[in-house]
Amino acid sequence: MGDESEGETEEYLFKVVIIGDSAVGKSNLLSRYARNEFNLHSKATIGVEFQTQSMDIDGKDVKAQIWDTAGQERFRAVTSAYYRGAFGALLVYDISRRSTFDNVGRWLQELNTHSDTTVAKMLVGNKCDLDNIREVSVEEGKALAETEGLFFMETSALDSTNVKTAFEIVIKEIYSNVSRKIL
Ligand code: GDP
Repeated sequence: MGDESEGETEEYLFKVVIIGDSAVGKSNLLSRYARNEFNLHSKATIGVEFQTQSMDIDGKDVKAQIWDTAGQERFRAVTSAYYRGAFGALLVYDISRRSTFDNVGRWLQELNTHSDTTVAKMLVGNKCDLDNIREVSVEEGKALAETEGLFFMETSALDSTNVKTAFEIVIKEIYSNVSRKIL
């Protein structure tokens, strides 16, 4: 995985998937993180998209290839290929739509069924800018994350709150999981 030739920076590439119900903001979280863009009326593109983002950890170039279902949530045929090789996952719900929080368990189960390695997982309560129409409290999010052993963060792809931090925590955790295995 790493290349330790002298003078070259060690490089890592990890796959991260974003999952959750339709319209919770998965595509916008990715576009905010990767391109600092937000779309108020984003239309789901057909297919699976990914973006690659680099970050420096301990002087190593750690790249995350972040996959977004791009509207394919309902098509089970893509499922196993989508999850294969993922080292990290963001499980996203919308704090203003309780049904999306109620479905997190289903997404987690699907992730656990299909993943073939240790996966760093973050529960993400997106759209925290919509606090005035909130249907899921911060405490409920925290409690679920604690029960299931997930990191937790509320984010807003709209105003950028915690987006970078959420992705970076997952990527750092992956790096730490992988280095523990190598060393
Ligand atoms: P996806 O289907 O999960 O990929 O969701 P999208 O990223 O396509 O977003 C669905 C809708 O929610 C779009 O209209 C977005 O503009 C909106 N949206 C996404 N993130 C946020 C957010 O953080 N706050 C608010 N208020 N709206 C958001």
